[in-house]
Amino acid sequence: MTVRTRADLSALPSYVPGKTIPGAIKLASNEVSAGPLPSVVRAIADAATAVNRYPDTAATDLVARLGDKLGVPAGQVAVGCGSVTLCQQLVQATCTQADEVVFPWRSFEAYPIITAVVGAGQTRVPLTAGHGLDLDAMLAAITPKTRLVFVCNPNNPTGTALRRAEIERFIEQVPAETLVVLDEAYKEFVDDPDVPDGVELAKAQWAAGRDNVAVLRTFSKAYGLAGLRVGYAVGSPELAETLRKVYVPFSVNALAQVAALASLDAEDELMVRCRAIVAERGRVRAELLAAGFEVPVTQANFVWLPLGERTAAFNEHCLEHKVVVRAFVGDGARVTIGEPEENDAFLAAARTFTG
Ligand SMILES: *Cc1c(COP(=O)(O)O)cnc(C)c1O
Repeated sequence: MTVRTRADLSALPSYVPGKTIPGAIKLASNEVSAGPLPSVVRAIADAATAVNRYPDTAATDLVARLGDKLGVPAGQVAVGCGSVTLCQQLVQATCTQADEVVFPWRSFEAYPIITAVVGAGQTRVPLTAGHGLDLDAMLAAITPKTRLVFVCNPNNPTGTALRRAEIERFIEQVPAETLVVLDEAYKEFVDDPDVPDGVELAKAQWAAGRDNVAVLRTFSKAYGLAGLRVGYAVGSPELAETLRKVYVPFSVNALAQVAALASLDAEDELMVRCRAIVAERGRVRAELLAAGFEVPVTQANFVWLPLGERTAAFNEHCLEHKVVVRAFVGDGARVTIGEPEENDAFLAAARTFTG
């Protein structure tokens, strides 16, 4: 006898994480290269003595703190085991098998996988020629079955960002029963004042009677806690409540909760790091352009090289130079901005690419 698993899952590709190769520079997962702050390590170490106890499943302190920081009632904040898990909770909260999710493509690799795991239908909307989200095409892709639209801003892996006015115009045209999720995993790296803070934008929409807007944020990128898994969603009270219903109990662990709080305490210090990464991003992009690469303007902690069929060769070439990038074969390579010397190693590799 063989256990019968869902036939529809056999065709589903697995999530491909960025590779970690001993001795190589990893610029494949959009992590912050600098290690956790000493104050954060201390908080984690102190909390380690109590791991015989279950965590606070409601993450009460963290949710209250986030509510204060964002200026929303705590009831409108829902935490998750990384924002990727919240993406799944959002699909679970809105969709059955009869419903559909719309998202841009190429975008965050987890969207199609999560949607398929939940069993909902999906529509992938191609990016514009400029590698940005095509909001008009996304609007046109919405049908009466569409319950959720992911808007990744800035977009992973292209780094392009939508401006306030275009997002507002989009939301105003989306049917009121369809949820728009602004996935802001890279928000802290944005330096264009026309790219909105999604939570502020959402608040204005809620005040205008549109409760179909939610925002996703994470501690994995700018806050440097990728290994601990904690993110959050901000939405209407009803949506946040439904997200809590589909939450796997205790999945945001105790160390993640204290580390997130300690990181909020150290926010100023962490944002200084982010600004240094933004400065490096400008340098790396300028040098890549000078070397003849096409590099879309990026608002995230990575650059996108739309190399098409040359992507696989570029990936190999970087690996030979002990630099691990994230290749989407046939499409392009995404390269995280690391410390200056890591970026130099990558640039040296890129300049010698002749493929
Ligand atoms: C990295 C990323 C996330 C999720 O990060 P978590 O580590 O699960 O919090 C979500 N959305 C996008 C677009 C990302 O790039």
